[in-house]
Amino acid sequence: MAQRSDEHLKVLIRNGALQRRIREMARQVERDFKGERVHLIGVLKGACIFLSDLIRNFQSTDVSIDFMAVASYGKGKESSGQVRLYKDLDTSIEGLNVILVEDILDTGLTLNYLCRVLKQRRPRSLRIAALLDKPSRRIQEVKADYVGFKIPNEFVVGYGLDYAERYRNLKDVCILTLPPQ
Ligand code: 5GP
Repeated sequence: MAQRSDEHLKVLIRNGALQRRIREMARQVERDFKGERVHLIGVLKGACIFLSDLIRNFQSTDVSIDFMAVASYGKGKESSGQVRLYKDLDTSIEGLNVILVEDILDTGLTLNYLCRVLKQRRPRSLRIAALLDKPSRRIQEVKADYVGFKIPNEFVVGYGLDYAERYRNLKDVCILTLPPQ
């Protein structure tokens, strides 16, 4: 792993716990949609690993996927406060049961922006699945329908989440501590 000597990682959620919770989340979605098709939209890049584990746990539901790419964080640990859309959907979502799949819900700016964009495209329903939620950081009100874990106000990496594009490959979700600037 490309860990720098002055950066410290501490495991917050082990992969086994992530897998167990994601299995439960998939079951809950299947119960809610009872055999109807669902269309998952992964928010790149952070949600790619969560989404791929989530879809593998669907047993009875017809599921399709698409991706959007947004950025609000730049290269560091602080959000720029502005959301930019880098990649739009490949296909229309009109009439579909859409679930927006996000790695982490923090200030709420990203999901608020994406929900506004997607609602204009007339999906049949629009729900949010977030693996992690930092409720104490919320600036804009967003309520996720499916939440994996509520976590404290710490900067986390791993399982798809990065710091300056590194650490996405870690199997566990870890707290990253940087040396004082
Ligand atoms: P929000 O718009 O809710 O503030 O933030 C959502 C996005 O910010 C996430 O998709 C993620 O890219 C980034 N983010 C928020 N908190 C963290 C964190 O603790 N670690 C990492 N790596 N990214 C985060």
